[in-house]
Amino acid sequence: MLLKISTTYSPATDLGYLLHKHPARMQSFTLTFGKAHVFYPEAHAEKCTAALLLDVDAIALVRRPHGRSTEGFALAQYVSDRPYVASSFLSVAIARVFSTALSGKCKDRPQLAETAIPLNAELSILPCRGGEKLLRRLFEPLGYTVTAEQHGLDPHFPDWGQSRYFTVKLENTCRLSELLTHLYVLIPVLDDEKHYWVGEAEIEKLSKHGNDWLAEHPEQESIVRRYLKHQRHLTREALAQLREEDAQETDETVQMEEEAEVEERIGLNELRLSAVTETLKQSGAKRVLDLGCGEGKLIRKLLPEKQFEEIVGMDVSHRALKITQERLHHDRLPEKQRERLRLFQGSLGYRDKRLTGYDAAAVVEVIEHLDLPRLAAFERALFEFACPQTVVLTTPNIEYNVKFENLQTGNFRHKDHRFEWTRGEFQSWAADVAKRFGYTVVFHPIGPEAEDIGSPTQMAVFTR
Ligand code: SAH
Repeated sequence: MLLKISTTYSPATDLGYLLHKHPARMQSFTLTFGKAHVFYPEAHAEKCTAALLLDVDAIALVRRPHGRSTEGFALAQYVSDRPYVASSFLSVAIARVFSTALSGKCKDRPQLAETAIPLNAELSILPCRGGEKLLRRLFEPLGYTVTAEQHGLDPHFPDWGQSRYFTVKLENTCRLSELLTHLYVLIPVLDDEKHYWVGEAEIEKLSKHGNDWLAEHPEQESIVRRYLKHQRHLTREALAQLREEDAQETDETVQMEEEAEVEERIGLNELRLSAVTETLKQSGAKRVLDLGCGEGKLIRKLLPEKQFEEIVGMDVSHRALKITQERLHHDRLPEKQRERLRLFQGSLGYRDKRLTGYDAAAVVEVIEHLDLPRLAAFERALFEFACPQTVVLTTPNIEYNVKFENLQTGNFRHKDHRFEWTRGEFQSWAADVAKRFGYTVVFHPIGPEAEDIGSPTQMAVFTR
């Protein structure tokens, strides 16, 4: 069983610092089920590859009291695939051998551990119960480009058909700790098997390693179910925990009010929503998305416009969606109106099939809530995968903040903002996104304009 991790980050040999394993040395580790070896098949400034070779002791496995994962037929212990495939053994090895990297720490290159770098992982052999489809559904929403080569049951007898074994390549620009965490959790999920007893401690592990990404993953339920070996009570508990964390993390209601207070005096919210509605109308769009719809203020303005045949509101926060549903009296709307409107939970950091095929998307006051790695994932998820004809996107103009008397100097308009941009910063970001994904972009100020500092909100309209 072999896992290879490569980077083309320059200098690529910094991978050695990130993994805490020197490229010039081979190291071996003794684990309860065998040995793990780490070495570098290539290590130069342009490209560096680290290999984790797992040598599972097949005999020791059979002797272990809980070790027989293929119990159930007479020759099981002689024909086990366990020594040769990526499974929960590999997850344990990753946690043991790369524990510091897995936790995202790096003494010598702390900055680099925080940086998204081009990474490539190759796994031979990965068993996928659920086939290539599931493999893609698990990794693609996390931004990976997946290449999978399926292996026949027996190379000498092609008629026997395909096996569940794949050689898999995963490519992404992300932090090394993210890649390791995704592998740690998703390998046993694909294998749908664990070599050890699964109890409450597994929920903790899942919560620790899935904290940043699982709550928003479209396959969250099947990941949790499989990770916890289909034990219903554990699955229920874990899902409840994840949702609670999600609700806490994204409970933006109070903060939105805070922001509204800062901007209230100039009726900015109303101006912004009118400008977005008008732009969507002019684009000729019939089917529109409101991404990060919050409490549904834009949706309320879109609903009376007959031009919009289908309106979809998506937000990461269950709580905001519930408020939207209540405020719009969704369940009491006449059937025709109800059919025009759909609300669902989802995250902008992930590719999502439900968002494809729309004429336009509004992203109103949302991007400033995304940290930079997530902003990069959002760019691809929206402009490359969902790729509506028109994107109408607004964000605060930080230059205007000096005009808000009730905002202390240096503060953002609300606590959860990860950044607020000047007009120059926003325009160069938007121009770069447009160029990369084949859009053109124009900018419009929203709200009263002041000399030298512009208007409080800036809007970019992307068209493809
Ligand atoms: N567009 C709304 C709400 C803006 S507040 C309006 O103008 O009134 C920002 C919203 O973005 C919040 O509702 C928050 O839950 C949502 N959000 C933050 N991160 C998100 C993500 N990754 N995916 C989807 N929505 C997100």
